[in-house]
Amino acid sequence: MRNDDAMRNITVLSGGVGGARFLQGLLHGIAAGTLPGVSPDAEVTVVANTADDLWVHGLKVCPDLDTVMYTLGGGIDTERGWGHANETWSVMEELREYAVEPTWFNLGDRDVATHLVRTQMLDAGYPLSAVTEALCRRWLSPTYGAGLRLLPMTDDRVETHVAIADAEAPSGRRVVHFQEYWVRLRAAVPAELLVFVGLDESSPAPGVIDAITGADLVVLPPSNPVVSVGTILGVPGVRDALASTPARVVGLSPIIGGHHVRGMAEQMLGSIGVEVSAAGVGLHYGARSKGGVLDGWLVDAADADAVPRLAEAGLSAAAVPLWMSDVEATASMAAAAIELVR
Ligand code: GDP
Ligand code: CA
Repeated sequence: MRNDDAMRNITVLSGGVGGARFLQGLLHGIAAGTLPGVSPDAEVTVVANTADDLWVHGLKVCPDLDTVMYTLGGGIDTERGWGHANETWSVMEELREYAVEPTWFNLGDRDVATHLVRTQMLDAGYPLSAVTEALCRRWLSPTYGAGLRLLPMTDDRVETHVAIADAEAPSGRRVVHFQEYWVRLRAAVPAELLVFVGLDESSPAPGVIDAITGADLVVLPPSNPVVSVGTILGVPGVRDALASTPARVVGLSPIIGGHHVRGMAEQMLGSIGVEVSAAGVGLHYGARSKGGVLDGWLVDAADADAVPRLAEAGLSAAAVPLWMSDVEATASMAAAAIELVR
């Protein structure tokens, strides 16, 4: 590839932890110049899922936006995978003394400051995209300047809700917010139905469609295919943008050997009837040439037997180690993904 053909605009459709870890590797690879055909000054736009967002204690909390922002800004608690490093919990302790619900959703003291800033700005009439940009001026601009942008998928309120069995409810079912299913119930009960409240009526946030149609490369990182990437794809206009973009579109499997690496992708895939396997997720996304969203799909070395099935479905496919153990390993995954669709 000639130098002036180098890829300069990369867009990543991200959830929280899996997406953020992938982005660390991608940014490392760009800076180190180890990504094939990618300019060392390539700019990355992250379109993050906002369907996990919730209002709690009067504050607007955006778990995936914050996980990406704190992780890339060097402020994440790496043990927990969410919230600030060096966190204290005085606000939560005080709220518990007042017996204020919900007691199952933890907000660290430092984290609360982020949600206070966000909520104040939303109350003053700023859209979430503008609020996110303001928060990123602290977390991302000093390190990345214009090289990294974080966009919410939409400025509209969208929430994933989960129907679970409840023998005491008249209908035999109860619907809980995704965060209650994940944090309080630990995804331990079957998700009978997923409802994406507000998704069909939402609009892409400013910049989202242009980030896809104007990209040289779009990446679906190993994020949850249903409640992270699935919701981004569900924002009206996003699928059309992926269909029409001149960019190559490549994804990496969050499922290795029939299991998610962490999180609850297994439960979510099961509830929408998708086979819980690397091939199952690739086929669920589908080839762009056949009405899907991908040109290429990278699976783990353990799932090499899925490659012929994926190729038959019109996807460029390959199998390499997909464990994001450190930034070097993750940068190699990014390089292999790019190689697949170059
Ligand atoms: P969440 O919003 O915090 O749940 O994060 P994401 O949706 O971005 O990512 C969750 C997904 O990341 C899960 O389905 C995991 O299986 C996947 N994941 C986490 N770590 C790894 C890893 O090291 N390798 C791969 N291939 N997937 C991973
Ligand atoms: Ca999430």
